Amino acid sequence: MDWGAVLDRLSAQYGRGDWRVPYLRDHAEDPFQVLIGTILSQRTRDEATDRASALLFARFPDPRSLARAKPREIVPLIRACGFYHVKATVLPACARAILERFGGVVPRDLESLLSLPGVGPKTANCVLVFGYGIPAMPVDTHVHRIANRLGVVKTEAPEATELALRRVVPERYWIPINPLLVQHGQNLCRPIGPRCELCPIWSWCATGVALRAGRAPPREADRPRHGRMRASTRTVAKRSVRRVPRSRRRKSI
Ligand code: SF4
Repeated sequence: MDWGAVLDRLSAQYGRGDWRVPYLRDHAEDPFQVLIGTILSQRTRDEATDRASALLFARFPDPRSLARAKPREIVPLIRACGFYHVKATVLPACARAILERFGGVVPRDLESLLSLPGVGPKTANCVLVFGYGIPAMPVDTHVHRIANRLGVVKTEAPEATELALRRVVPERYWIPINPLLVQHGQNLCRPIGPRCELCPIWSWCATGVALRAGRAPPREADRPRHGRMRASTRTVAKRSVRRVPRSRRRKSI
């Protein structure tokens, strides 16, 4: 797989500039807010995550203030999020752990991050990439699906995809790969009915090559429901694309 060429094509498609530019130069975010925002984003739509994050950080902007917050004070601020009652308990516990065990500074290694309440592999990897600019591999539903469609991994769960991608993707591509694949998953490589005829990276994709040739794709789930897919010679169209909101840039459940 020519990852450099794939990222070039996706960057051009989604107007995201040069993916080689060091990530934090253009996207500096507070690691604490990346961490809390990513927990909020679990099972939550992007717009709701952004709204809840804004309300929460306006009142509790750092570990010290959030550690003292009562769940009943947090609930009204994050009610738009899925599992808001659970999160209202987890968030102050996470902030307390950062204060007590890490001196109020969000840790910058995977093992320490994974020891925090409410933090799983996706959240930990997001903090490294989007909070610290450290190469890591956040895998959400989009990254998991697209990696399998491309045929570079063959996995059942995002956790296995993360490990597999770490093996097959050179480290210099780890930081830009998540936001580009997430945006691709939201626009063309959708969960149902991927738009392979418009896809700028179809020639690297096992699924795209098969579907364009009218053959069955590798994954059962991607087989067209209504007859064979016709091979298409249409050129890639620049379509209106959705921007990745801040929450999606760090999100990768
Ligand atoms: S060719 Fe189709 S399946 Fe492959 S990445 Fe593009 S849209 Fe997704």
